[in-house]
Amino acid sequence: MKAIAVLTSGGDSPGMNAGIRATVRTALTGGLSVFGIRRGYQGLIEDDMISMKSTDVSNILQRGGTILHSARSEEFRTAEGRAKAAENLKNRGIDGLVVFGGDGSFRGANDLQLEHSIRVVGAPATIDNDIWGSDFTIGFDTAVNTALEAIDKVRDTAAAHDRLFIVEVMGRYAGFIALEVGIGAGAEEILIPETVTDIPAICRKLTERYKGGRTSSILVVAEGDEEGNAYEIAEKIEKHSGYKSHVTVLGHVQRGGSPTAADRMLATKLGYGAVKALLDTAAPCMVGVQNGVINRHPLADAWTRRKNLDKLLVQLSSGLE
Ligand code: ADP
Repeated sequence: MKAIAVLTSGGDSPGMNAGIRATVRTALTGGLSVFGIRRGYQGLIEDDMISMKSTDVSNILQRGGTILHSARSEEFRTAEGRAKAAENLKNRGIDGLVVFGGDGSFRGANDLQLEHSIRVVGAPATIDNDIWGSDFTIGFDTAVNTALEAIDKVRDTAAAHDRLFIVEVMGRYAGFIALEVGIGAGAEEILIPETVTDIPAICRKLTERYKGGRTSSILVVAEGDEEGNAYEIAEKIEKHSGYKSHVTVLGHVQRGGSPTAADRMLATKLGYGAVKALLDTAAPCMVGVQNGVINRHPLADAWTRRKNLDKLLVQLSSGLE
């Protein structure tokens, strides 16, 4: 192997830059040349890539977003699109590709390897943390901390005005963010897709708390909760109990900002681990960090195996409010 390329794909997450830096520098130290592909798979199809030197990744470790930009590409979902992508890599003598992204990006990478024998390694980068094979994904810790800071502020105004607030955090299919943020912020209720949301029971608990002298409450809801988003939950609570609430949707602020120390460490380990994996293995794989150790897993595990929530955290999500 003489040359590799790196791209960031799908939803961006804080720490991707730290991952790019570690990938580029590990490759250069190992005597490989490295190309940076802009705008994910779409940029790869359009041959939008540049040769990268060590200084090209200076001073990016602490920055959110991704210097390579991210994108979604419908064309890459087609065999023709992937053929163009493979041709662009082969024309430049690139035989290995590191992909920072989520399970969708990994599916695309897997197809590229199977159809065109380009070696691929996936590094899990998504704030949702919903990828099996790594205890955490790049960006999750930063997103949790960003949301936590926001909810601490919501708590101040909720307390000052004796209000009920419903705060929506990201998580269309999984409650990882809501669970950690809810526990960290001391939310009165945490509503996630993995557990049953019982509106009448929530209303009863709110009433008991008011009777017990509490004057304000915060509910944290994952956007993909089966009872609906924060606005829909607010409506159902009001219909059932008459309690009016204020809704705050944190949205894309959770994707931005300077990565936390934990995300910088994780991204650095995964960037390093991805290059080592490219050099060592001919099979498409994903790198993950589990109990502090860099592991390799079949790429398909990312979408065929389901990562479960931490049982202890689920237990702690009620009973402490
Ligand atoms: P994420 O990687 O964060 O899950 P997406 O699901 O949007 O994000 O996937 C990012 C890109 O990966 C898509 O725009 C597409 O180009 C590619 N991709 C996703 N799913 C597939 C698939 N099943 N086959 C081929 N390419 C895919």
